[in-house]
Amino acid sequence: MNRRDFLTASGLLAIAGVSSSVLGGCSPLSGSDAAAKGVKQSYDTQVLVVGGGPAGVCAAIAAARQGVRTMLIEQGGALGGMATLGLVAPFMTCYDTKGEQMIIRGLFEEVVDRMVALGGAIHPSKVRLGSPYTAWITTGHDHCTPIDAEIMKLVLDQMCAEAGVKVLLHATLVNPVMRKNRVKGAVVLTRSGLEAIKADIVVDCTGDGDFAARAGAPCEFGNPETGRVQPATLFFHINNVDSRKLEADVESKLHTFRKVNGVSHRALHWHVEKAIENGEWDIARKSVNVYKGVRDDEWAVNCTRIARVDARSSESLTMAEIEGRRQVKMIMDFFHKYVPGCKNATLKASGSTVGIRESRHVKGEYVLGVDDLLNGVVQDDAILVASNSVDVHGRLSDNSTEYITVKNGRWYGLPYRSLVPLEVDNLLVAGRSISATSDAAGAVRVMPPCMAMGQAAGIAAAIAVNGGTAPRNVDASELRKLLLKNKAFLG
Ligand SMILES: Cc1cc2nc3c(=O)[nH]c(=O)nc-3n(C[C@H](O)[C@H](O)[C@H](O)COP(=O)(O)OP(=O)(O)OC[C@H]3O[C@@H](n4cnc5c(N)ncnc54)[C@H](O)[C@@H]3O)c2cc1C
Repeated sequence: MNRRDFLTASGLLAIAGVSSSVLGGCSPLSGSDAAAKGVKQSYDTQVLVVGGGPAGVCAAIAAARQGVRTMLIEQGGALGGMATLGLVAPFMTCYDTKGEQMIIRGLFEEVVDRMVALGGAIHPSKVRLGSPYTAWITTGHDHCTPIDAEIMKLVLDQMCAEAGVKVLLHATLVNPVMRKNRVKGAVVLTRSGLEAIKADIVVDCTGDGDFAARAGAPCEFGNPETGRVQPATLFFHINNVDSRKLEADVESKLHTFRKVNGVSHRALHWHVEKAIENGEWDIARKSVNVYKGVRDDEWAVNCTRIARVDARSSESLTMAEIEGRRQVKMIMDFFHKYVPGCKNATLKASGSTVGIRESRHVKGEYVLGVDDLLNGVVQDDAILVASNSVDVHGRLSDNSTEYITVKNGRWYGLPYRSLVPLEVDNLLVAGRSISATSDAAGAVRVMPPCMAMGQAAGIAAAIAVNGGTAPRNVDASELRKLLLKNKAFLG
């Protein structure tokens, strides 16, 4: 496709998609009008990664390190996605089911090591299950990695710069540019207006499958059987906590941790019960998951719960952000009044975006199922192995939690085919929205596997560019060889 054809295609598609959301009341323009209106082609790249979260950053670095021109666009003002903008912490386990061996390595490990060196993470080898760093949770949480969001932003900036990734922040995907079913680039909304990016291969790392869905790839939303998505949570961090007092209080009550009708009663549930009696608690969760952070007085709080949020809708997200902040205020009041060591705690920050556990699942060449995970299946084209438990919130009711650990083996695999969407060419998906059932996604959506998927997608994109082929035709054994060369662990 020459430059003129590309501009026409981008104009047509951009206008089809933006007539209501971006152009307000303007009537749709024709393709040539659109090109003339100046959806200018600002960039020309070989690999375009859309979304700068854990998956996207690793995809971009991995592709660029293979020597292909790589661009990464992100709608926010920093890289790191949920880990930085959403303040989600810690990185969930990167070890096998026995807690003996670190199995998510490669770029994930490099990010961790660089953060540790700057005082922005505690190495997972030092973090054991049942400790304050895992919210005292004993299942599936061995060897988590406490992280500092600010250091992570810095490390990701540095790693992208060193790899030669062209990063564009404050750039939101508007629409794919397509020629029939083949991806040719993207139209993005930047601070300069609409701009087109020409690309050979796109990696969708938006977490919500935004690019894939708009390009016409088949997708499911949430769990089609229940019609539900997992609830959203606005994470927040507190500091100025007297951690000795808080830890002593929880540790004196560890024997009361329990589950009632699918609802977890874990840390601080004894205080929540009192707050409920006093009419000072109205959220669905009946305990507070507090994860100790890198600094002694800082804790990440996973407690707010907002059901039925549709991440495809700004209306729905607006409701969720506002309700999340209301809940944060209520929980802060609760900390001050009820929780030992937290009388003077301060709200360090809440996420600049509400945390979305689930939205679209893009259908790919392979749909990862929960049996694959629980039975420890490692497919021939596995691009990572992981051991994360199936963690499904809100399936049975707005407040249920199901947590199922791997039954057989020390890990399971994630096949390359789960990153390759059906029906659309020159596209890969990595991160939360890969091809998996709703339940299986509840396991592999955590950050270490998302980073490993990103690394695999980036290398696969580079192989496709260098070989002049579609990602669908990438030889998985070549991909696995390159992953191993780049320090991934594949079982
Ligand atoms: C409440 C909650 C608790 C969690 N707890 C943990 C935990 O303890 N440990 C753990 O490891 N994981 C946890 N997770 C899971 C994990 O944080 C996410 O699933 C993971 O970050 C997904 O990575 P990702 O790169 O696919 O997506 P994201 O982290 O969501 O990143 C996607 C990026 O794409 C950008 N983007 C989206 N759409 C566009 C667009 N149209 N244009 C441009 N940019 C776009 C976003 O701004 C974002 O930066 C939790 C998640 C939630 C919500």
